[in-house]
Amino acid sequence: MSGKLSIVGLGPGDDRYLTREALDALGEATALYGYGAYLDRIRSRAGQSRYASDNREEAERARAALSHAASGVNVAIVSGGDPGVFAMAASVCEEIAAGLDSWRALDVTIVPGITAMLAAAARAGAPLGHDFCALSLSDNLKPWELIERRLDAASGAGFVIALYNPVSRARPWQLGKAFARLARHLPGTTPVIFGRAVGRGDEAVTVTTLAGASDTPADMATLIIVGSRETRIIDREGRTPLVYTPRAVEEAIA
Ligand code: SAH
Repeated sequence: MSGKLSIVGLGPGDDRYLTREALDALGEATALYGYGAYLDRIRSRAGQSRYASDNREEAERARAALSHAASGVNVAIVSGGDPGVFAMAASVCEEIAAGLDSWRALDVTIVPGITAMLAAAARAGAPLGHDFCALSLSDNLKPWELIERRLDAASGAGFVIALYNPVSRARPWQLGKAFARLARHLPGTTPVIFGRAVGRGDEAVTVTTLAGASDTPADMATLIIVGSRETRIIDREGRTPLVYTPRAVEEAIA
């Protein structure tokens, strides 16, 4: 019996962000796994079973889905945004690497989705128009010292930085420390974008500067983009500003 496992990105928000490929994969699956809030976004189909789990139980969810698929069932695991960006696809690969031979034999498909960084960037203009990187601020899976080193390296090298997982109830101080760290390398006028719940009904996008960033509210549904020295803001009368990073850099920066 050969099962199938699809790891499906739902995009950042409502149905409009679902790709045709994702819709097909969800429609063909007979079992759906995922964080409850993500599963709630998907229309149910007769004969399809659902296995909701807590957001933090990724390894367990991956193993359960792999075992289920290995029994010959077409299983889909869902992720918000893109499943390969700080999400389920890597967890599933980790479990396959450490797990049963039958898991390696499975037909595994990863269906990409629009990641929060791209959705937030599009709302603000073109802040990712030149070199950029993405960093998770969560120190649950890596030491805080490593995050600080990466913030130093990325801002010092001129990358625009997308910050995922900026704050949570258990991590209240990390974001303020991250802004202070970035201010060692970047001027206070550096544009900073806060994209909250992008693609959902309660979406809010704020454009500020590094100097004003610590006074801007952020939560677990916020994606933050910190510009580089090249990133600029175009103010527009009666319209929200456009933030962009030009395509070319003239001089090598230290
Ligand atoms: N796989 C997801 C990211 C998971 S990490 C993706 O590709 O988008 C979770 C973090 O993603 C959140 O803390 C937040 O920083 C960001 N995020 C996810 N959805 C978002 C949305 N709709 N608006 C803004 N940020 C979002």
